[in-house]
Amino acid sequence: MVHREAKGVKIIRLPDSWAARIAAGEVVERPASVVKELVENSLDAGAKEISVWVEGGGVSLVRVGDDGDGIAAEELPLAVERHATSKLADEADLWRISTLGFRGEALPSIGSVSKLEILSRARNAEAGCRLRVDGGKAGEPLAAGCSVGTTVEVRELFFNTPARRKFMKSPATELSHICDAINRAALSYREVHFRLYNQRSLVCDYPGGVAPHDRLRQVLGREIAEGMGKFAWNKGELIIGGFLSKAPSSFSGTRYLTAYVNRRFVRDRVLTHAILQGYETLLMKGRYPAVVLYLELPFKDVDVNVHPAKHEVRFRRQSDIHEAVAEAVREGLRNEAKSPTVLIPSMGREPCGTVGEPAASYGVEPWAGGAPVQRIEFTRPLEESPLACGGFFSSLEVLGQLLGCYLICSSPRGLAVIDQHAAHERVAFERMRRRLSNGEIERQNLLISQVLELPAGEAALFEQRLELLDRVGFSVEKFGRDSYVIRTAPALLPAGDYREALRRMIVEVAEIGESESLREGLEDRLATIACHSVIRAHRKLEKEEIRALLTELDRIDFATQCPHGRPVLIELSEAQLERMFRRT
Ligand code: ADP
Ligand code: MG
Repeated sequence: MVHREAKGVKIIRLPDSWAARIAAGEVVERPASVVKELVENSLDAGAKEISVWVEGGGVSLVRVGDDGDGIAAEELPLAVERHATSKLADEADLWRISTLGFRGEALPSIGSVSKLEILSRARNAEAGCRLRVDGGKAGEPLAAGCSVGTTVEVRELFFNTPARRKFMKSPATELSHICDAINRAALSYREVHFRLYNQRSLVCDYPGGVAPHDRLRQVLGREIAEGMGKFAWNKGELIIGGFLSKAPSSFSGTRYLTAYVNRRFVRDRVLTHAILQGYETLLMKGRYPAVVLYLELPFKDVDVNVHPAKHEVRFRRQSDIHEAVAEAVREGLRNEAKSPTVLIPSMGREPCGTVGEPAASYGVEPWAGGAPVQRIEFTRPLEESPLACGGFFSSLEVLGQLLGCYLICSSPRGLAVIDQHAAHERVAFERMRRRLSNGEIERQNLLISQVLELPAGEAALFEQRLELLDRVGFSVEKFGRDSYVIRTAPALLPAGDYREALRRMIVEVAEIGESESLREGLEDRLATIACHSVIRAHRKLEKEEIRALLTELDRIDFATQCPHGRPVLIELSEAQLERMFRRT
């Protein structure tokens, strides 16, 4: 206190206009945030047609027009006041939010950093009403002629916050963020017709009321959408569904991982982690799937009041959600795998699209060990094998073995090449996984005990997981305040230093909490490491061994990828061979 006075520092109350601009900073980060907020208001108003016009990347103009319920003339001044909303009736509503908005912040925030105009006519009103807000100063509402619905026009965004304006990127970049915002809404509100005009020309046009896969195609483009299959899962009040890319089709970032909770687009570590865990061992390191996940649960079980931008949520039963999502994805993939999609070489490039997270990725690395994984560039599934699974591998006619590593086969469609090493790995992996999940774990005593020292925060987490580790064969005991000694490891693991691997696992799952899928994830990793030490490539296989391998491949769920996501099978169809030999 003395110190403050000595420096002449006093506490002052900020003028309302400053406070408004500070608060606006959290809601309005860039033009796309304006689009997101206005589109959400239109959706909350039950609109079926939403049109967005932008100019200058949204900095010069964002206009959003809808055919929703509109705002009554006498309420228009309230709509632009801070903390004024029609979406909460009593305090308890805050714990069961069913609308996209509820904080009563978007319009006042946008109005405080731009020149805003609202034109609206309520459904049962004779005429409309217009209201201007200029840098936070609201004018008088004026009668105006218009049709039912609302149009909000935002000009000169950040004109009075030049520091923020300097952060704007090129109009093209801002436009792409705006597309993202519209695409995210469009994937969740299929019944709505969305249009986006840039500099008066139509750039997105997504008619409403279409089939789910059609909306997916509209938004993600034909190529990505065709590579995705539908999945659905539910348990009690939890309903999970959506689309997932069939392994091995994958992308270099998490851009195409999109998740919705009760129709709200969210960025959530728990969901991302659970989705990737569902894919575990089906994708190569550093590769990510395309997934659109819709999660529905009772409103009271999820808190959306975490951040003003409302992109974050907290689940009341986080580990249950994690487990359910991982299981839903795994089951969806298992169903997809029943009609194997095989890798067919092509020279296509990864298409670019506009939805989901920016490329910054949340990587889940293979846990430890493992030989370097060969990357396959420019390969992706193009055609799906029409052969239903029923003994696909056993139906192959083996023509011979090449380079001590590839099985060359004739398939009913053409030529099939099997990477014997990858196939062995998948089979061994499945065997290991089965043994682990049946609790058939042998332990090896460590000759030299390994002591793991952890920072206090991690130690607390680690301590909670000792039982889980014990179930998979690691006996770990406390040894001093924040140190632990590893006494045994699962016998199926090669000898080595397990400390870093254990630590990484604990940190990675720090936020997920204990769950069944956590144990499965751990088992997957152990099996991956284990099978690596067992398999040798470049060995001539006897005929019986080949037949046994093919039969085994037919018995397991994910036979088309090795546990590191490398393909087991590459197929060239007759049509492709003909194309390659220029016969067509
Ligand atoms: P919130 O959406 O959190 O309620 P906003 O500041 O975004 O807060 O909007 C304030 C209020 O203005 C809303 O609660 C709603 O009643 C009204 N409103 C805003 N946009 C629209 C719209 N497009 N159609 C109908 N009402 C709207
Ligand atoms: Mg709102």
